[in-house]
Amino acid sequence: MQIAIIGAGLGGLVAGSMLRARGHEVKIYEQALEVQRLGAGINLGPNLMKVMRQVGVEQKLIDIGLEPAAWTSRDFRTGETLFRYPFQDASRRDFGATYLLIHRGDFHAVLSTIVPPGITEFGMRLTGLEERGAKVRLAFANGQERQADIVIGADGINSRVREVLLGPEVPKYTGYVAHRAILPRDAVPKLNVAAELTKWWSDAAHRDTHIVIYYLDRAKTELYFVTGVPQPSWKDGTSFVPTDMGELRAAFADFHPEVHRLLEATPEAITWPIFERDPLPLWSRGRIVLLGDACHPMKPHMGQGAAMAIEDAAILARALDRHAGDYAAAFAVYERARKDRTSLVQQHSRDNKWLRHEMDPSWVFAYDALEVELPTL
Ligand SMILES: Cc1cc2nc3c(=O)[nH]c(=O)nc-3n(C[C@H](O)[C@H](O)[C@H](O)COP(=O)(O)OP(=O)(O)OC[C@H]3O[C@@H](n4cnc5c(N)ncnc54)[C@H](O)[C@@H]3O)c2cc1C
Repeated sequence: MQIAIIGAGLGGLVAGSMLRARGHEVKIYEQALEVQRLGAGINLGPNLMKVMRQVGVEQKLIDIGLEPAAWTSRDFRTGETLFRYPFQDASRRDFGATYLLIHRGDFHAVLSTIVPPGITEFGMRLTGLEERGAKVRLAFANGQERQADIVIGADGINSRVREVLLGPEVPKYTGYVAHRAILPRDAVPKLNVAAELTKWWSDAAHRDTHIVIYYLDRAKTELYFVTGVPQPSWKDGTSFVPTDMGELRAAFADFHPEVHRLLEATPEAITWPIFERDPLPLWSRGRIVLLGDACHPMKPHMGQGAAMAIEDAAILARALDRHAGDYAAAFAVYERARKDRTSLVQQHSRDNKWLRHEMDPSWVFAYDALEVELPTL
């Protein structure tokens, strides 16, 4: 089949690679002009890393990112350890792959190598989609047109493809912002951060204010933090703005001195509003299907947004394989396989309790998108 994928983000690239490996003719259309080092820290859980093995970049990623010894949850005031999950011992043994921390830009750059040059066309912002007979016609902002047998909308939280399927609807502001910063290299050695990945949790009186701190690379040269801080309203669209560092430090005034030291050493940060959507009533219509953030954007508190997009990509490729020639059956199987799991992960991400206290994370990490049985129709 001729398959058009909208968006060369994390899910779109994995879908492209897996569908090409199954003999389909794939084109990916990306609005950006080139791959850029955007974003900051991202968590790659073992459920995601198993797919990386399949697309041939598991070791490349391990060579760049950091495999943290453990996830440590600490009390915001006392610093007491609430829960410690030993990733390095447990992840490969129990879940079949490692847990990795990395810069999203570095991850994206590695993923960009899993499709050969020429498959992705840059500078192509999709504006319109229309099914005509056995083809879908695609229109782009630069005036160009293309066509395909099926279209995969992997175009992220502000998905144009979702809008064509379901009508315009802005994602919901969650009432929280995330401040993010990568610390300058020379500040890092002085900080004496106690663990490789720590989440500091507050209480109900502080309305769930929290901060997650981790290194982004194997050599531990880049230290990163991301917060969650309540902010009742947001007027600046879905993009980020520079952080008022005074306000940020004030939000963490009641936190442990280790957190104060980190914020004092941070010259600047950016503030991202956190948006999500309720589970969608439909994931596909006709020859058009959605995956990843286009379909189920979530709060970042489980570090599973990218993993859900990438699991979607793997399952969609397998469903199209099993139902070769019957895309409608493949889309139905894909949605049935994915909807409950992604809705549950969305819900847990919203609750923000993941690994706060002792719990078994295997329902998330043990999932293997390459092996899990596909449902029947
Ligand atoms: C710039 C950016 C920075 C991020 N930083 C982080 C981070 O630091 N940490 C973290 O945990 N998560 C981050 N995320 C979120 C995380 O990457 C996503 O949750 C995850 O990648 C979901 O994958 P996806 O494939 O659904 O969407 P994305 O990876 O977001 O990819 C969507 C792609 O579609 C393209 N696109 C959008 N609209 C169109 C259109 N009309 N036509 C053509 N192309 C289009 C976008 O340019 C993008 O490349 C970031 C997302 C983005 C877009």
